[in-house]
Amino acid sequence: MSSYTQSDRLGALPPYLFAELDRMKQEQVKKGVDIISLGIGDPDLPTPPHIIQALAQSAADPKNHQYPSYEGMLGFRKAAADWYRQRFGAALDPATEVLALIGSKEGIGHLPLAFINPGDIVLVPDPAYPVYQAGTLFAGGESYFLPLTPERNFLPDLGSIPAAVLRRAKILWLNYPNNPTGAVAPREFLADAVAFARQHQLILAHDAPYSEIAFDGYRPESILNVEGAKDVAVEFHSVSKTYNMTGWRLGFAVGNAQILAGLGRVKQNVDSGVFQAVQYAGIAALAGPQQCVADNCRIWQERRDVLIASLRDMGFAVAAPRATFYAWVPVPRGFTSSSFCVDLLVKAGVVVTPGNGFGASGEGFVRAAFTVNVERIREAMDRIRKLGIRGG
Ligand SMILES: *Cc1c(COP(=O)(O)O)cnc(C)c1O
Repeated sequence: MSSYTQSDRLGALPPYLFAELDRMKQEQVKKGVDIISLGIGDPDLPTPPHIIQALAQSAADPKNHQYPSYEGMLGFRKAAADWYRQRFGAALDPATEVLALIGSKEGIGHLPLAFINPGDIVLVPDPAYPVYQAGTLFAGGESYFLPLTPERNFLPDLGSIPAAVLRRAKILWLNYPNNPTGAVAPREFLADAVAFARQHQLILAHDAPYSEIAFDGYRPESILNVEGAKDVAVEFHSVSKTYNMTGWRLGFAVGNAQILAGLGRVKQNVDSGVFQAVQYAGIAALAGPQQCVADNCRIWQERRDVLIASLRDMGFAVAAPRATFYAWVPVPRGFTSSSFCVDLLVKAGVVVTPGNGFGASGEGFVRAAFTVNVERIREAMDRIRKLGIRGG
């Protein structure tokens, strides 16, 4: 039998930290334990019916059965541009400043292939969505990590990046509202980041899939709200979290036409775009009634309030996120991220995600996603309370 050695680039991926935890979870499931998972970054709520209807109708039309264009139908790109204008007041040319993506993850993973040469550096937040680092690695680049800490409200200290790193840096990733910390960015920080990108000739890539999952009247900002941002920035967006459509695979990137053209060239050579029926569903989502988004947020917020109140009651010094469906919970004294996750799993049947799985600076935290209903959150919190652990 042949033996096939995987490429060095796969070998260089960071170790999968959840393997042992996954194994332990399977063991609990086998034993018949009723597991409550607060580990899943995927809405449990259904896609709104008017969007499903648009898909069904478009799927029945043979003109949608052929290859789509890699950059997206102009109609979809217009709907995305209109949505951006209405939501953020940002003007975009649908032909050159909007690019459809097979979920925003696809564009995030591919962007470095368009601009990174071996030896180039990509500035990556830590903790973060793992795709920024993986995409960098696949393009032969190096990640330089920007710690996100509670002391700085989980905003990176751009001023602390050494000049020697900046000389080789080509892309700066930011993600607000943030996964996994639930942090948000004030406009002043976004403005500083745009100025910084201009000064150091960086591509500012802002990943914003949670901009519509926000609470207490808070309205997250787009990077395009910063004057002149389009000179240096692109923003990645998605229908996944806003309309409960993670499985549909539809996202888009907006902003600087030159950056999007580079990403488009990669796409042109590796994929053939999004099924047109899914794009029509995306148009229905973006151009249709938005009440479903407000209704969703009410559900997320009720869950957040139950989760945060219970955790605080147990002594956890946890912030109530103003956006996203994640709580970033400091582990009690005497625990690591991993040991706390193991305890909750084995002793309470509750799954949360160890913070160090998102990067070294995530150590000391776990991420609790409120992607289960209020009853299940209450049950999870009751079980944890019975362990007698006091939060730190
Ligand atoms: C969910 C998520 C995405 C990707 O969503 P898609 O379904 O690929 O559009 C991107 N970035 C972050 C931080 C996410 O949490």
